[in-house]
Amino acid sequence: MSNPALPAYRDVAAAARRIAAYATTTPVMTSRTTDEAFGAKVYFKCENFQRMGAFKFRGAMNALLQFSEEQKTAGVVAYSSGNHAQAIALAARLLSIPATIVMPSDAPTAKMAATRGYGATVVEYDRYTEDREQIGCDLAERHGMTLIPPYDHPHIIAGQGTAVKELLEEIGELDALFVPLGGGGLLAGSSLAARQLAPACRIFGVEPEAGNDGQQSFHSGRIVHIDTPGTIADGAQTQHLGEYTFPIIRKKVDDILTVSDAELIEAMRFFAERMKLVVEPTGCLGFAAARRERLTGKRIGIVISGGNVDMRRFAELLSS
Ligand SMILES: *Cc1c(COP(=O)(O)O)cnc(C)c1O
Repeated sequence: MSNPALPAYRDVAAAARRIAAYATTTPVMTSRTTDEAFGAKVYFKCENFQRMGAFKFRGAMNALLQFSEEQKTAGVVAYSSGNHAQAIALAARLLSIPATIVMPSDAPTAKMAATRGYGATVVEYDRYTEDREQIGCDLAERHGMTLIPPYDHPHIIAGQGTAVKELLEEIGELDALFVPLGGGGLLAGSSLAARQLAPACRIFGVEPEAGNDGQQSFHSGRIVHIDTPGTIADGAQTQHLGEYTFPIIRKKVDDILTVSDAELIEAMRFFAERMKLVVEPTGCLGFAAARRERLTGKRIGIVISGGNVDMRRFAELLSS
């Protein structure tokens, strides 16, 4: 895939129409405390209130809605231990498409149960001795299933872009936008929407300090691969950007910032205490970075990407 056909804004607009009957138009929240602290107007796009608890439902739904009859019958396969698994499982159930999810056998039981609860078949693998990509590809080949990757796919990118499209249509132009970054599906889609609807807006991707492959790639101009980073932001533990996401991000995004796990915990605590929001660590990336910038007098958008965190883990992190 050296020369992929990259998605454009029109694909985000088409995705928005396609998923409208299924996805939640999530609320945009504001906080007086934040506005006063920043000396700015801050708008939070709350994808923690999206179906299954994260924006990933948008991309999954957009991808599955474009399956042919043949693809629908054979089913979808995905490998993920996180939100992509649940997004594909839920989208597949809504469309009566059989779904197989490849998950590590030591994945949290709650996540496995949630995925099975949506009616998906879970195939377990040993994360130390087996390759999930290989297992996914084998299943796809043997049973004619369609493999949907978590971020590096034009339909996924277009679907993820619909959240920022909604945000800008609701509140108007922004001066700056902060978006969590893992493999880059959300950031690439968001940048397509923002460049079109708020051309002057500065767009920032935010990733965990421990895994700044996106920042390295952005500055070096080639996709940098790293080992799985150790961070509490489990939705951004990706090892590299994608063939589709990278060129879009390189062209449309202004910069990539990083934040520490300690800053993520502080942001999580702020969301819980001040805004009464349950936000998972990865969902805090955008806000944690924005807090450090001097943005006085500006209009700022922050994507809260998800709220799926085990309650025991949540309490543990907040009391640390
Ligand atoms: C997947 C995920 C991300 C990162 O999204 P990418 O498209 O991989 O960059 C951020 N936040 C949450 C909650 C996620 O589930």
